[in-house]
Order: sequence, then structure tokens, then C-alpha cells
Amino acid sequence: MRLSGIGVSITLLAGLAFGGAQSNFDADQNTWTLSNGWIRASFQLTPEGYFLTQQISDLQSGDQWAASPNRPTSPVCLQTDSDLFDAQTQFILVAQHAESVSLGGIRQFITLQDVKGRAQITVVFDLFNNHPVLRYSLRYKNLTPGTTHITWINMVPWSFDDLGKRYTAFRINQWSVVAKPQDFEPLQTLLDTSGAGVEVYSGADGQQCGWLALRDSDQRGLFTGWEFDGRTKTTVRQDSGKGYVQFSSTVLELNHPVETLSEFQGPNTFIGLFHGDWDEAGYRTQRFVESVLAKPAPDSKTFPYVSWDSWGYQDKIDEQILRRNADVAANLGVQLFVVDLGWARSIGDWHADPAKFPNGLGALSDYVHSLGMKFGLHFALAEADPSSPVLRDNPDWSATEDSNYFGAASLCLSNKPAQDWLIQEGIRMIDEYHVDWIVQDGQNMVKQCTKTTHTHDPADSNYANAVQGINAVVSAIQQARPNVLWENCEDGGSMMTFNMVKSYVTSITNDASGALPSRQAVYGATYPFPPRYAERYMLDSDGLTPYATHSYRFGGPWVLMTKVADLQADQVAFLKDQVQNYKNQRTDISAGKVFHILAPGANATDAIQSYNETTDTAVAVVTRAASSGSTYLLKPKGLQAQNRYTVWFEISPVVYSQTGAQLMANGFRVMLPQPFSSEVVHIEAQQ
Ligand SMILES: [Zn+2]
Repeated sequence: MRLSGIGVSITLLAGLAFGGAQSNFDADQNTWTLSNGWIRASFQLTPEGYFLTQQISDLQSGDQWAASPNRPTSPVCLQTDSDLFDAQTQFILVAQHAESVSLGGIRQFITLQDVKGRAQITVVFDLFNNHPVLRYSLRYKNLTPGTTHITWINMVPWSFDDLGKRYTAFRINQWSVVAKPQDFEPLQTLLDTSGAGVEVYSGADGQQCGWLALRDSDQRGLFTGWEFDGRTKTTVRQDSGKGYVQFSSTVLELNHPVETLSEFQGPNTFIGLFHGDWDEAGYRTQRFVESVLAKPAPDSKTFPYVSWDSWGYQDKIDEQILRRNADVAANLGVQLFVVDLGWARSIGDWHADPAKFPNGLGALSDYVHSLGMKFGLHFALAEADPSSPVLRDNPDWSATEDSNYFGAASLCLSNKPAQDWLIQEGIRMIDEYHVDWIVQDGQNMVKQCTKTTHTHDPADSNYANAVQGINAVVSAIQQARPNVLWENCEDGGSMMTFNMVKSYVTSITNDASGALPSRQAVYGATYPFPPRYAERYMLDSDGLTPYATHSYRFGGPWVLMTKVADLQADQVAFLKDQVQNYKNQRTDISAGKVFHILAPGANATDAIQSYNETTDTAVAVVTRAASSGSTYLLKPKGLQAQNRYTVWFEISPVVYSQTGAQLMANGFRVMLPQPFSSEVVHIEAQQ
């Protein structure tokens, strides 16, 4: 403990010595240099009028990412119907200033006007203390006499000198509604040197998480994420002939109208530096996300929650069934009690079904509160049954694309009248049923809609239904009822973006799909996302064994879909014990670095570990699916080499005492006596 204390003070001193985040403008050279002691980024408005990226450096490792002389690169990269603004556009400087923002950060504004007087573009850079990450966005102002349309924007407009090296790209699949074995699979690809790109299709209903990492064989790495929930295409490619690597990320089917003297604000994105492996890329991303972007967790000591969800009964729920489950759930230590799909008169008619809730849903909510639990409700806000009053009264509010969610039609959320109605319904539902938590559900939260009768541009569906659709609706309800927490779900985690983390405190990963797929989802999702965004639903069909409960130990909220009212006394005692074990580690895992040791597979043993620097504690979950190995040699990672640790197990009575160096080099045996067995390993620093 003493050694780790010294480590903390050294870090603090380094931060002070560098004076926190700062931005320096050199008016003679028209250069801007942003730095925080971890990262330094420099940009110039050249004497010819081109606004260019010069270099991004890692001040801790010495790694440098310099612009390629063969490929000038600019943060400005967008196109209107007729004009392209990029590294070849000449600008004059209109204004620039820096201001401080929260978390010891600095925000630099650089306002440029193109020499032909068509547009004013403001580049905004954010840099925060203690994160090797530059956040960035563009604002476009239309100076032409007519309406223009933004038809293309490059959100990740970075090209760098490739230094003659080879590069590997890394991306993670997201959930798809038709369950596939590759859900949340990590994909690693050596870049072709002749320019063929590695592609990431992200956003609602996309194929991958909205994140991409790249590194060379010397551990020099970059990662990037984009804060947009609609569909995007991102690529990274290398042209070794011309000596550069190049990122690009576009909002698909963009056609956003901008009236004269009006502005378009592009999505924020970030680029970060790491030196090491993909676990390090993930950790740097996650710490930045937790500090800067993510909706704060309600309470780091009691979150991620253990919750109960009624989906084990599908929609066959009523007040009596739920009361019986609430009694047992409270006894188990469940903190949040969620009533899933089936409580309302129909999808889109967000009033409790009087046949199921003769005393009203508010009475059940009050009962749940009286047991000391929070009350959560399912809300498929972008869907409505064709027979629901809202669609009977307003048949034109449907979107042109229909997701067919349990027979419902889809609503176009960027159509203002529908949006206003939905916001009022959300607020009423929260007030009437005393709701603490909303499970946002449905399918594809960014609907496609080309209707000419709606308030959005018919050709701008993807952007409009993201920013002016789902984002606007959720944000308005959250502003009106700020104490209600939201969970992201679209039949599963199929909107795994860095915009999503700003509105939701967690996200489901795989939908209720069993122990092994849940471990696979956590394994992949915890590269880009903090562990609390890897939520899991446990099913009755998983059984009640250590293998089942351990499969849900690692990650965000642990949701029991178990019919707990039907459990025997010994099963309740077992589950209560497991719930307490989960609670004992959740804060360590939430703030720790995730080490992906061995990926799950149907005939494999898998291992995932967390190391928390502050408490000098590690937790590893080791699980044997149908594999033949009865032991597994676990070599933990990230420990302090010279510190001495106690290693103990939740099942095996064996205890070890060794230094971090010994444990990491030699490992130790984890006993997995038969197929579908498991172990949870605790590694704790000795005083
Ligand atoms: Zn529409």
C-alpha cells in the first residue's frame, strides 16, 4: 500500500509540473499547440491559408504521429452540395480564443472563413487533464445567399506519416438482432499496404462498436471514437507507396439543410494515444469516457446494480406475480426491480393494462419502493402498435421503415408533432408510475424515414433520426426528469456508440442469450467501453450453479431474469450469497483496467481479469465451457512486480502468497474439475 501511495504522488507532481491542459497560440506563425503533459497536438494556418494538422505526440512514451509530407491533413473536412472544404481550401483567420472547461480542461476555438466567402468554419478542440485524448468538432456556418446541404463530413480526418512500418487495426462487433456467434467479437486485421481499408460500420443497427484502434509493431498506437448514434462508415488504410496511414469516418446518407447564416454542428469525435497492447488502448479509452463523456453512475459504491427483470415471464405478468417476485428479490439483495414489456395496454399506449394491474401500476411501484428497491419500466419509445391510439389518431407519424418490433409499427422520432407527444408521454409515465429507471428498448433506434410530410428533410433521415430524433427525445425527457436513469437496449446492444454513453448509465450487450454468449459479449465490449456498459441478463435456463452466476460476475449491472418467486430455500440462499459476492467486487471492476486473457468459446476455457490500481487488487473470472482441460494456468497481468499478494479462490480452499513478479511470470493453477465449471480468483495486496 505504501508503494502505491508513492506512485500516486509522483503522478500528481507530474500533472502540476505540466500545469494542466493548456493551449498556446503563436500569432506570428499562426500555430496552435495544445498540451496537457500526456499529449501535445499542433495545428497551423499556413501562410498560403491552409489549415493543417502538424503533429500529435505522446509526451510519456515519446511516440510521434506527424503529418505525411505526401498527404497534407486538415481537421476541416466537409462538403456541401457544391463545395468541398478540406486541406486544399484557403482560409483566413476570423477569430480564435481558448477557455477553461470542467475537469481542468481547455477548449480552443478557431474560426476560419474560406477566402471565397462561402463558409465560416469553427474548429473546436477539447483537451482534459490526465487523458492522452484530443476531442474535436466542426461547426459550419452558411455564408451563401441560399440554403446549402451538408452532404459529407469526415469526423475522423487524420492522416499520418507511416514511418515505413506495418499497422494492425482493431475493431469490435456489436450485437445484431439475429444472434450470431460473432456478436461482440474482436477483429484484428493487419493493414494491407496498398491502400485497401479496414471498415467499421457503426451506429444503430450497425455491425461494429463506434471505435477503432491502430498500432504498429513497436506498440505505438492510436484510438478513435465518434459521438454519433446514426449509421457511419469509418475506415483506416495505409498507402505505403506514398507513406501514410489515413483515417476517415462519415455519417451515411447525410443531407442536412443549412439556411443562410445558420450553423451545422458536426458530431464530436476523439483521437487518443496509447503505447502497448489492445488492453491499454481500451483502458485509455475507458478512463477518458468515464471522466469526460459518460453519464455519471448514480453512486459508485452501489452501482452497477443487481436488478431483477420480469422478462423471464415474457409478457405474462400481473400484479400478483410481480409482488411475489419483488418479495424474494428484495430478500436476495436486488436493488432495482424492472417491469419489462407487457405492462402497457399495448406498445405505444403507455398506460398500465388494467386487467394485469387492477390496483394500478403506481401501487406496485410503491410496494417495490417500500421493499427498498428502485422501480424500473420498459419503454419501447420508437414503436407503436398499429391499433394503438397514437397511430389510429395519427397514421402519418409512422416511419417509412418498419422494424416490426413485436408486431408494432415504427415511429419517426424526428417528426416534431410525434416527438412532442412522445416527450409528454415519457414524462407522464415517469410521474404516474413513480419510475426511477427506464429500459429503453425497441429495434433500431435510428429509424429510416423518407416521408415528405414530416418536419425533417426527407433525404436526411439518418442524421435527423439520430440527432433530432432519439437524442432529442431522450434528452428532453431527461431534462424534465433528471433523476431517472436510462438503460440502453435495442433487443440487445446494437447502438454501441460514444454518444450513447452520454445519455445512458449502462447498456445491455447481448440480449438474453445465455451464459457463454454473455461472456463473449463482455469480452468484446470491455475493449472500447467501461465495464459498466457491459450489462447482462441471466436466464432461468442458465440454471443456478456457480458456472451460471460466475458467467455474469464481470461487467455492468447483473440482471436476474430468473423466476425467483419459484426458487427453493437452498436456491435462494445460494443466489443471495452470489449477489453479495458480486457487490463485493463491482466497484473494483468498474474502475479497473480490463485484461482480456483468453476469449470464450464453446469448447474452450476463458479468462477475464480486472486490476484496480487504487486498491492494488485484481479479480479474475475463469470459466470452462465444454473444454477438456481440468486446470488452467492463469498468469495475471498488471500487478505491481515488487508487491506481495494473497491469492484466494471462491471455490477452491487453496491460498497463495507471492510477489506480483512471481505471479505474473509463473502463474498458478485454477481448478476447473468438469465441463461447465468456473472459479473467481481474488488477488489482494498484503499490507
Ligand atoms: Zn419521418
